[in-house]
Amino acid sequence: MPLYNLNTSISYLKGVGPNRADLLKTELGIHTFNDLLHFFPNRYIDRTQFLKINQLQQNSSEIQLIGKITNIKTVQQKRGSRLVATFRDETGFMELVWFRGIKWLKDSLKINTPYVIFGKVNYFNGVFSMAHPELELLESYKKSLRTAMQPIYSSTEKLTNKGVSNRLVSKMIQHLFEELGLKFKETLSKSIIDKLGLISKSEALFNIHFPKNQSLLTKAQQRLKFEELFFIQLQLIRKKIVRKVKIKGFNFEKVGAHFNNFYKNKLPFDLTSAQKKVLKEIRKDLGSKAQMNRLLQGDVGSGKTIVALLTMLIAIDNGYQAALMAPTEILATQHYNSLVELLEGMNITIKLLTGSVKTKDRKVIHKQLELGELNILIGTHALIEDKVKFKNLGIAIIDEQHRFGVAQRSKLWEKNTLPPHILVMTATPIPRTLAMSVYGDLDISVIDELPPGRKEVKTAHRYDANRLSVFKFLKDEIAKGHQVYIVYPLINESEAMDYKDLMDGYESISREFPLPKYQISIVHGKMKPADKEFEMQRFIKGETQIMVATTVIEVGVNIPNASVMVIESAERFGLSQLHQLRGRVGRGATQSFCILMTSFKLTSDAKTRIETMVNTSDGFKIAEVDLKLRGPGNLMGTQQSGVLNLRIADIVKDAQLLKTARKSAIDLLTIDPLLKASENIFIRQAYQELSKNSIIWSNIS
Ligand code: ADP
Ligand code: MG
Repeated sequence: MPLYNLNTSISYLKGVGPNRADLLKTELGIHTFNDLLHFFPNRYIDRTQFLKINQLQQNSSEIQLIGKITNIKTVQQKRGSRLVATFRDETGFMELVWFRGIKWLKDSLKINTPYVIFGKVNYFNGVFSMAHPELELLESYKKSLRTAMQPIYSSTEKLTNKGVSNRLVSKMIQHLFEELGLKFKETLSKSIIDKLGLISKSEALFNIHFPKNQSLLTKAQQRLKFEELFFIQLQLIRKKIVRKVKIKGFNFEKVGAHFNNFYKNKLPFDLTSAQKKVLKEIRKDLGSKAQMNRLLQGDVGSGKTIVALLTMLIAIDNGYQAALMAPTEILATQHYNSLVELLEGMNITIKLLTGSVKTKDRKVIHKQLELGELNILIGTHALIEDKVKFKNLGIAIIDEQHRFGVAQRSKLWEKNTLPPHILVMTATPIPRTLAMSVYGDLDISVIDELPPGRKEVKTAHRYDANRLSVFKFLKDEIAKGHQVYIVYPLINESEAMDYKDLMDGYESISREFPLPKYQISIVHGKMKPADKEFEMQRFIKGETQIMVATTVIEVGVNIPNASVMVIESAERFGLSQLHQLRGRVGRGATQSFCILMTSFKLTSDAKTRIETMVNTSDGFKIAEVDLKLRGPGNLMGTQQSGVLNLRIADIVKDAQLLKTARKSAIDLLTIDPLLKASENIFIRQAYQELSKNSIIWSNIS
């Protein structure tokens, strides 16, 4: 038995000890040898280059030099003291400066002995200096295990302060290799390694920490990134397979009378071919005897609601209830109203349940639900309160999923013996790579086509200084009988500043568009739901021409006569929000406009966002830009998803590799779903190890 293995506590590693072990645990989450082995550098610097002192530039970055310390002195300053050493090579001199650990350094620094120093240079009063340089005797430098590409590990202030330097981390890893040897268990099959031309796990682990050269470093990175993405995909896809085989769902065999009646007699338009395709996918799921878990993506205005309705009708035809959940009261109400209208004359009971439904009415709804008298329940979060019990919920449809947390979704399905089918609809297009990573275990349908006759919304960028001409434009549009939104940012509902902006804006608009010629609605988050609803209704009915609002109108609101969307302080909105807001217009037959108002000063990200909006209306393209600007961790609640806590891969930069990994995982599981084949033994073992630690979890069930 070797003394150490991968599961050995890090405190047993040479040079670590209990104190440092604690630091490594709390600061970096490193508990074991294995954790340290998989603590990968986040960048590398080329240390083949040595500079001479007379080559230093004022803006030199991290550099290394060889020279000798010729003199050391302590300089008193207001607070504490600093240690200053004169460092010379044959071309000149510079200063090395320390503010901490002075006493120890003073005793241990060797005079007139060659050192290699490394760090960032500063220039002041004609002298170059380096604060807290990394330094090592030239002699030991020559002996130590190191390579041209010096790895730089991420660190924290606490680690730095406690003396756990980059060099020390590198040393620890060197010790680790000394203790464990250079051979590590392979985790991929020979056929995958051969097919993709990967290097072995052992070679990759060594070269990621001590790259012999750039080419081996690149190969090590490729190998480890692939592996990371591959195992995530393997888990997601296996989960999907298991769900389909094991998780039973209601079997909706037939398309019955309600569906057919509606389809033949009530459907107000022909479905687009994208809607038909999606409906087919859903019908197939519903009749598969397994639980449906489908994500329906479709840009704003692509017509998801009608798909939701038809899906609910299938459930009702099979004797089950349906629920439709929306993130805001306004949206839920709008869904309710439009469904009531669509279903008029049909023998279907539909009710609305939101926070503002009175207790008395609520009780009636609860009763009807339990007795099965209600066919469709529409609502907000109120739907998932414990008191709400369905007799037989067959399908739960969740609109605008990114507003809901994981826990909320799972609640819906605790209410039944068999889980209801789940359809999650989102108008926030999710870039393919992100969808693969975060929703890789779900089935995904896309409505990639807008209903016919839509005109693209013309989008323009205007500076605040041009406000008067914008107002003039609005007046012209209103004169044509159209309606206008003016939206203010309200990033944080409690921010007083934002309200002030909104109210100031409202006042100046009221002045510019005076009564009685112009009527203005105002809606914001601090209003009572009833007041909001009242103002919304005035706008919907066309009694007001202008709607001044915060982003409460962001999602889903459908008013076809509104033809202009003015977004104030557009630079403060994220891309997906801008896209959502723009989607509020362009819903009728007339040409619509979106005007992005900003100040002159824009950050480069803000410029990119505005330019993207002006240049494209393709939600997927916009989402790709968003992903690049913000990184995957910040998009629509993906923080919750462990899937994106990647060690080395990056789903934006390594998109191609991600696709390869997913394909490899699918190919493998198609041939060997249980990973039983002997050639896949390494994969199986690694997979089991990962599942034990439960690296990933899905975000739907
Ligand atoms: P979203 O996908 O944003 O939820 P909606 O379902 O609200 O979109 O649909 C937007 C508008 O398009 C609605 O007025 C709806 O009646 C209309 N619509 C949906 N499908 C079609 C279609 N196939 N043909 C014409 N109009 C449609
Ligand atoms: Mg919608």
